[in-house]
Amino acid sequence: MEKVNFIGLDIGGTNLRGAVVDLRGELLHCEEEGIERTSSEALFNQLSRLVKKLSLREKSIPIKGVGFGFPGFIDHSTWVVEKSPNLSLIDGVNLAQSLKGKISYPFFIDNDANVAALGEKICGAGKGSQSLVFLTIGTGLGSGVILNNRIWHGAKGYGGELGHITIEPEGRMCNCGNRGCLETLVSATAIVERTLRYSRAYPSSTLFSIDEKELTSERVYKEAVRGDSLARWVLKETGIYLGIAIANIINFLNIEMVVLGGQVMNAGDYILLPAKREAKRRAIKGSFASAEIKLSALGGNAGVVGAAMLAAQQTGYLSPGEL
Ligand SMILES: [Zn+2]
Repeated sequence: MEKVNFIGLDIGGTNLRGAVVDLRGELLHCEEEGIERTSSEALFNQLSRLVKKLSLREKSIPIKGVGFGFPGFIDHSTWVVEKSPNLSLIDGVNLAQSLKGKISYPFFIDNDANVAALGEKICGAGKGSQSLVFLTIGTGLGSGVILNNRIWHGAKGYGGELGHITIEPEGRMCNCGNRGCLETLVSATAIVERTLRYSRAYPSSTLFSIDEKELTSERVYKEAVRGDSLARWVLKETGIYLGIAIANIINFLNIEMVVLGGQVMNAGDYILLPAKREAKRRAIKGSFASAEIKLSALGGNAGVVGAAMLAAQQTGYLSPGEL
């Protein structure tokens, strides 16, 4: 195998992570910084600086391309951002034009959850599979679909947005403008919201006395570990909603694998077990039996590894057959 490296950048709502990655998906150097949110120009200059900085870390092996995972709905043919709910300064921005001249390598762009799905598929939990669905559950719920070794983009590039499938017809308002989306039921925000709502009726719970501003989904998980029954119920209910979505995915695609990542999944079995039970209860038997439901193997690095693998795939160093 020719010795070449790629740079992957994962642009989040608050943090930016960049890494030099080899063809096997190994991270050679990694950098993380806060996102420049003053203007889109400042953000693109920051990305340019980070690519330069990373390229100087490994001079002996050539870098053949750079991959970017941006949050939001990105037109796959033009790389124009239709809307980025968590990084609105890039709303309507043509990413290809904005980065042109700032990056001295061939570069490639996709949605952040799509590249993370690709990372898990090539180097993580999905190694060896042909098709998978990846869900990353954090403040919101991102997802990417890999079908036959390739990211599924749909007609314009907005495909695979499972966070915005409707689960509750008259549920809570979502950032996307719809009601009762999966994201409004299964996300760190949803866990906090439900805990606050339920805790008013459970004065015996340790969560009852926690200040609203202090409450996080990690805290709910910690209290669940300590045995708090309200905390355990909220996580179980989160798992049930997630399981309903997984059953829908399995029934619709007869998918080989569903990979679950993001900070909320640090709660592990408190969410995973009820999710599996619910998915099994609702999915077509044969479809469920042929689907694996796994936790992410790359964790917070799925985005940078996947972005680098996108560049490797697009520059022809990694053919879909090798993925
Ligand atoms: Zn939505």
